[in-house]
This record gives sequence, C-alpha cells and structure tokens, in this order.
Amino acid sequence: MSILDDMQRTLNDFGDNMIQFGHTAAVQTKQFADTARLGAKAADKKRVLNQQYAELGEAVFAKLRAVPDNEYQDLIDKIKKTQLEIKDLEDQAAAVKGVKRCPECGAQNPLDADYCCKCGRSLQDEV
Ligand SMILES: [Zn+2]
Repeated sequence: MSILDDMQRTLNDFGDNMIQFGHTAAVQTKQFADTARLGAKAADKKRVLNQQYAELGEAVFAKLRAVPDNEYQDLIDKIKKTQLEIKDLEDQAAAVKGVKRCPECGAQNPLDADYCCKCGRSLQDEV
C-alpha cells in the first residue's frame, strides 16, 4: 500500500467524518429548534394558566372576602393587606406627582379638586 493510498484513505475518512459531523449538527440544530419552539409554547400555556388561576382567585376572593372565618381566611387577609400596601404606595406616588387619586375609580385628580374628574365621586373627605 502506497503512501498515496494511505493519504487517499485518510482524506476519504475525513470527508466521511465531516459529512457525519454535518448530519449530526443538523439533527442537533433541529432538536434545539424543536425544543425551543415547544418550550416557548409551554411557557405561553403557563402564562394562560396563571391568568386563569388569577381569574379564579379573584372570583373566589370576591365571594369570600366578607365571609367571616372561611377556609381561605388567611389568604384573604394577606390579599387585603397587600391591596392596602398597593393603595398606600399609589397614594404616595400620586402625592409626589401633585395629584390625588379617586378612592372609587383610581383616577388622578388635581389636589384641590372637590369631585373626581372621571366618576364624580366626592373627594372632599380625602386628604
Ligand atoms: Zn373616580
């Protein structure tokens, strides 16, 4: 067997390996793309599910918020506390901005407004 034959065989093996490598890379690229596409679809569905959970939670909260000693009392108390914290922060932000928020609809009104510019609620008892 000549050196040229060896070189030819080595080149052929190299070529076969490169073809196999290219094929493997193509398969891996497709797998990666499929995985990413399916993962993104799953993430979209999780967002939909979280929205559905939120809707259910809001419906249950609306029904049970005024029912004393119900089975979700701890969670309802936590939600009420968080709602008050959000309102307080929004009121602070409104004060910094130089407006007052309507307690009924949340609209921003001038500090000297007596009635809400959006829903008409009296603002005179609000500081
Ligand atoms: Zn209002």
